Amino acid sequence: MENNEKNIEKVIILGSGPAGLSAALYAARAELTPLVFTGTDIGGQAATTSIIENYPGFPDGVGGTQLADLFTKNAEKFGARFEYDMVTSVDLTKRPFKLTTYGKEFYARSLIITTGASPNKLNVPGEKELTGRGVSYCATCDGWFFKNKKVAVVGGGDSALEEGLFLTRYASSVTIIHRRNELRAGALLQKRAKENPKIFFIWDTVVEEIKGKDAVTSLKLRNVKTGEYSELPVDGIFVFVGHSPNTALFQDSLALDERGYIRIDERMRTNIPGVFAAGEAADSHYRQVITSAGMGAAAAIEATRFLENEE
Ligand code: NAP
Repeated sequence: MENNEKNIEKVIILGSGPAGLSAALYAARAELTPLVFTGTDIGGQAATTSIIENYPGFPDGVGGTQLADLFTKNAEKFGARFEYDMVTSVDLTKRPFKLTTYGKEFYARSLIITTGASPNKLNVPGEKELTGRGVSYCATCDGWFFKNKKVAVVGGGDSALEEGLFLTRYASSVTIIHRRNELRAGALLQKRAKENPKIFFIWDTVVEEIKGKDAVTSLKLRNVKTGEYSELPVDGIFVFVGHSPNTALFQDSLALDERGYIRIDERMRTNIPGVFAAGEAADSHYRQVITSAGMGAAAAIEATRFLENEE
């Protein structure tokens, strides 16, 4: 594509989670008509959350997909545009920045990266082969398939407990397998999980193997204290063992920290002028819908100022 003025966007936003959609809203209201590349699914991780109870304004909670939909409508109302596509490479060596999708090239004077994070895998035998056949990383997406069935949840953080509680709507039992004997999750979720009659805990234990031919049938477990092995018959296993940032696209072009998170300053600026980052691609600490949304808004304000200063 010819790199002429007509094809150059003022701001391109990569990602459509709370950070990306908030950046889109703010950039749209600054009349930058932002172009948002949504990635595979609109709404990011928030959209895979059953119910969000800590986003202000929703005292009864709000569904993850519902919130993502509201965010999208809000940004669209003020002129944000959406490309339901993946960016496969970026050239940040000169401006305008060049972005390539499977079929097209795009140019941008500024870029806001909100590519988020993805769930970590256990990396044990059987996991890859049985993903989608009993192994899942999303209770909202797959919980329904486990009506009256036994499921296991791996992890001891907020996600494991929140999604474990959600799974009790369908499953006959939910066994939470945690590698320590103390949960990382917040007190409220711990209380709810411990009081739920369908939830059981297996402490100090890791999953060594996921067994099953066409579907999950059992888990091979190892107690990390005694070294003993055991087998737990289950129909499904939900894995919530943290996340890793989706930043592989930028590993040769942006400064990342040792875990792959994009390094930003307090104004969401990366090491390249005109490139900003927000949300879980750059934040390993807070990782909340509200903090990601706030970072997205801040990144858009900074991109607006950056473009104004240039003019
Ligand atoms: P997390 O807090 O990092 O917890 C991950 C859990 O997985 C930990 O319990 C960890 O064990 C365990 N784990 C990690 N690697 C493992 C492995 N290889 N095998 C077995 N277990 C492993 O992740 P998260 O629960 O997804 O939460 C991420 C962030 O989102 C947190 O800041 C959390 O507060 C937030 N969040 C908040 C809410 C809410 O506010 N309602 C809901 C969901 C998430 P150890 O404890 O031993 O390290």
